[in-house]
Amino acid sequence: MEPPSYDEANRHLSVQTAGLSDHTSPPAYTPGPAPTVAVVSQPQPVPIIVSSLRDAPGFVLCPHCQQLVTSKVTYVAGKAAWCTCVILALLFCGFCLIPLCMRSMQDAHHSCPHCGKKLHIYER
Ligand SMILES: [Zn+2]
Repeated sequence: MEPPSYDEANRHLSVQTAGLSDHTSPPAYTPGPAPTVAVVSQPQPVPIIVSSLRDAPGFVLCPHCQQLVTSKVTYVAGKAAWCTCVILALLFCGFCLIPLCMRSMQDAHHSCPHCGKKLHIYER
């Protein structure tokens, strides 16, 4: 039974300090030139009538806040989806939930991304 030699204890310390002495200065961060943004004047798109919105986002004039916005669309299972669901449930139990997940079966709820108000509901 021997106590651990001093050599062993010192070796442990030197390993810790070795890592500290080996420090290299990190590469200096030089901010590059700001990316030049090409300003392209695009022709202003013509807004469509709110009631003519279909199942895709459309560029409309919000009747609530009078802003030209691209309507935000939320797809909600509507009558078409539920009818198909019931029919499928009667025919093949288990497949009835498919229409509730299909976008082509869902109603498109358009809302204004600016004021958040409902613009139009496109039903199937
Ligand atoms: Zn609005």
